[in-house]
Amino acid sequence: MQEIDCPQCSLKIDINLVTCPQCHAAQGLEALSGVDPDIRIKNQKLAVWFSVLFGGLGLHKFYLGQHLKGSLYLVFSWTLVPMVVGWVDAVRTLKMSPFNFQQRYCRKVNHYYV
Ligand SMILES: [Zn+2]
Repeated sequence: MQEIDCPQCSLKIDINLVTCPQCHAAQGLEALSGVDPDIRIKNQKLAVWFSVLFGGLGLHKFYLGQHLKGSLYLVFSWTLVPMVVGWVDAVRTLKMSPFNFQQRYCRKVNHYYV
């Protein structure tokens, strides 16, 4: 397990934690979200729920900023294939650590990234 020092209170905390358990200071990209408007914080649990309930329509892809993939889900939604793929996405998102999730989806906005 990788540990980092909380910048607020210097407590050693798991690198995957989003907030410090002692002082509740936001860690990693979340700490920058108020400072840097290019970093968009996405809610991992919400993304999972979108995948489960509306995965067939690609809602979770739109939510995570992958508009092209979302459109593909939407176009093929009548085949029900995207619904199944959406459940797979849900499991993958659920298993992803909060740190990896942020690294993957909460980066600076790149308009060519789909
Ligand atoms: Zn702290």
